[in-house]
Amino acid sequence: MEAFYAGFERVLVALAPLAARIGFDRLERPVAAVERTVKGALFDCRMCGQCALSSTGMSCPMNCPKNLRNGPCGGVRGNGHCEVYPEMPCVWVKAFEGAEAMREGARIRNVQPPIDHRLKGRSTWLAVMRDKGLPPPPPPEPKKKPADKPAA
Ligand code: SF4
Repeated sequence: MEAFYAGFERVLVALAPLAARIGFDRLERPVAAVERTVKGALFDCRMCGQCALSSTGMSCPMNCPKNLRNGPCGGVRGNGHCEVYPEMPCVWVKAFEGAEAMREGARIRNVQPPIDHRLKGRSTWLAVMRDKGLPPPPPPEPKKKPADKPAA
C-alpha cells in the first residue's frame, strides 16, 4: 500500500499543471467526491482535508473518537481496543503496527499540526497537486516608501 501511495502521489504531482489549467476550484467537487468514495472504502476516510495516512501507518486518525492526531490517549485497553468503543481496535495501535511495516514508518514520530476544520470535506489530492506540483507563488512586492518631499 505504501508503494502504491507513493506512486499515486507522483501521478498527482505530474497532473498538477493540467489541473491548474482546468482550475482547482472547478475540480474541487468532482475530485473530492471520487476521493471520498475511494478512501472511504479503503481507509474509512472522514475527509478531514489534511490527510495524515502516510504518517500514521495508513490508519486514519480521524476514526479515533477523540480525533487524536498525535498518538493514543491514556485509555487504550489491555487488549489494544478503544476506551470509548470497547469493540473497536485503537486507531493508534493499528497505526503503530502499520508504521512498523512501512519503509517510511518513522514518519509516525512527526508531530501533526492541529486540525484546520475549514478544510473539512476538501480534497487532499488537489492539495498535494497544488503544494508539490506547482511552483510556489512569488513573494509579495515590498511596500513602497512614501516619496520624499521635494526640497523647498
Ligand atoms: S487523515 Fe483525513 S483525509 Fe486522510 S484518510 Fe483520514 S479523514 Fe481522510
